[in-house]
Amino acid sequence: MKYLDEYRDRRAAERYARILQTLAKNPWTVMEICGGQTHAIVRFGLDQLIPKTISLVHGPGCPVCVTPLELIDRAIAIARKPEVIFCSFGDMLRVPGSQSSLQEARAQGADVRVVYSPLDAVELARRAPERQVVFFAVGFETTAPMSAMAASLARRSGLKNFSLLVAHVLVPPAMEAILSSPDNKVQGFLAAGHVCTISGCAEYAPLAAKYRVPIVVTGFEPLDILQGLAMLVRQLERGQCEVQNQYARSVRAGGNAAAQTLLHEVYEPCLRQWRGIGPIPASGLRLREAFADLDAEQRFEVAQIAAAEPKDCLAGEVLRGLRKPHECPAFGALCTPEHPLGAPMVSSEGACAAYHRYHRGGEKVSA
Ligand code: SF4
Repeated sequence: MKYLDEYRDRRAAERYARILQTLAKNPWTVMEICGGQTHAIVRFGLDQLIPKTISLVHGPGCPVCVTPLELIDRAIAIARKPEVIFCSFGDMLRVPGSQSSLQEARAQGADVRVVYSPLDAVELARRAPERQVVFFAVGFETTAPMSAMAASLARRSGLKNFSLLVAHVLVPPAMEAILSSPDNKVQGFLAAGHVCTISGCAEYAPLAAKYRVPIVVTGFEPLDILQGLAMLVRQLERGQCEVQNQYARSVRAGGNAAAQTLLHEVYEPCLRQWRGIGPIPASGLRLREAFADLDAEQRFEVAQIAAAEPKDCLAGEVLRGLRKPHECPAFGALCTPEHPLGAPMVSSEGACAAYHRYHRGGEKVSA
């Protein structure tokens, strides 16, 4: 909780904790979807501030964590080609594939570059027509419009040397996979505010009704999370299962129509493999037929590369809320941020990295 001492709204946070004490009469298991929310919860000690009867479990909303091993291997195979400049967000570089990582490939001579936007990769392709520029399109509904814009721009610019390795995933199908699992423990969700800023809230209503779970669209500041949690617990105690929007300063019911139009123009839903979880129908995005020539998997013939998940990594159980990170036997021993076994220990949004960094499970702080 030491970081809460530095938090400017500490008194307000403590007020919410008292409200939660009054509200929570029964034990509840609540999942925050987004890895950014997980890090805020652990960093600011919110999990220690709230009543012990509320168990926070950490969801699959870390795009780096859920990108399957085989896609990392395909990324590395593409990056090793001499004609390729492989562009990625920085978080992906240290994620272990089955043999190595993009960072190791770069150390061995592959031209792997960190970009802050897919549009930077398009610009690189424009400036280097003799090279093939590939962007690793990872992320949820939040980042997919940006990569769709890159595809659209590359098409309109007539670029022949730009392509996308697409690993985008969608939140609602993952929530449904968790809820429909026979071992599910989750009784309510804090949904990810930034995802809903793009997609809106409408998709969540059928889930809430079908599985009778309340869902509160929530922001990322400590007060957002505590307020979202209070709204959720109030519903749980009353036996309600509604979709509420705590993050109204950013999220509109219909989302961002322009971003949705762009997304729909470039991508269509597809079955996607989630790391540690397995295949989930209609949970990913792939390029539509009109953009299929920008598909790096086809262009570089890597779609046949497959890989089995490491047995020691229990990321699938962590990402479905069945275990907390420190309950993985490898946590802090075989698996550390310096020598990660799985992506949740690497990513800046990974639950295992958060637990390791902020002393959950008795390990030493590494940063
Ligand atoms: S601690 Fe490491 S091995 Fe265990 S689930 Fe997390 S990433 Fe996987």
